[in-house]
Amino acid sequence: MRSSLKSQRNGACATLLAAASVVLASALTPAQAQEPISPPADTPYRTEPAGPFHIIDNIYVVGETLHLTNYLITTDEGHILIDAAYEESVPKIQANIEELGFNVEDIRYLVGSHAHSDHVAGFARMQELSGAEIVAGRRDVDVIESGGVTDFRSDGSLQWPPAMVDVIIDDGDELRLGDTVLTAHATPGHTKGCTTWTMTAEENGVQYDVILFCGANIGDAALPVIGHPKYPEMASDFDTTFEKLKTIPVDVYLGGHGYWFWVEEKLARRAAGAETNPFIDPEGWQSALAVFEQRYLDRLADER
Ligand code: ZN
Repeated sequence: MRSSLKSQRNGACATLLAAASVVLASALTPAQAQEPISPPADTPYRTEPAGPFHIIDNIYVVGETLHLTNYLITTDEGHILIDAAYEESVPKIQANIEELGFNVEDIRYLVGSHAHSDHVAGFARMQELSGAEIVAGRRDVDVIESGGVTDFRSDGSLQWPPAMVDVIIDDGDELRLGDTVLTAHATPGHTKGCTTWTMTAEENGVQYDVILFCGANIGDAALPVIGHPKYPEMASDFDTTFEKLKTIPVDVYLGGHGYWFWVEEKLARRAAGAETNPFIDPEGWQSALAVFEQRYLDRLADER
């Protein structure tokens, strides 16, 4: 049964916006920012199987490599899986979940960050295994359900096994399971339905704001940004998205690919006995956001 989460809405988003209005007033310039740089194809980051690892509180990475950072969020009432990578990734994600001592049958929600093959191509297979409901941003629903045929970047060919979306998400919706509340922020541009999720996590009695960033890269296949025939509002979507992201309070910065948040460096610091959790990294988020925005502005400048 398809449903919308409108009935679960409350005023949390407005509260967040008000509380966060000062957070990004001093955004870093790109020159000061640490660049999230995509590692080459033949590096272990992309090729080596990654075991599951803990981030904070009830959040784990269960992706097949450090590049494909799918997240398992565990609760007493079942679990949430953020993204399922490729169809062939699914058995590896399952093995990682089982290595942590959890079961795929206990996944209640399969949440899509955005409708690209490296995030949702495994949805149909993972849904078969888990019986979970598929959750996605409203403007990505047709893309997921068509197997990528309606992707604005594509030539209309099938990219992945189509999967039906059970729960359609709008900006400000909350997905609740057990004690966990995931809040959706519509952050279109990378895809039309790109959805960034936030939640809180606790460590040593302190509450931290967690972001699961949908992404803001612009691949060559998505060009032009201005006047794209299948996505004419792309630039205005990106403008709105960057302004919105600057208002979100972030302590723990996570996203769909490990290099976005320097996962190798953080795991190395943890292995070396870091006293504080390296994934608590508000400055890293501000650096990354500034770089992603500058790359976008550079694209715009190129097209003008
Ligand atoms: Zn993508």
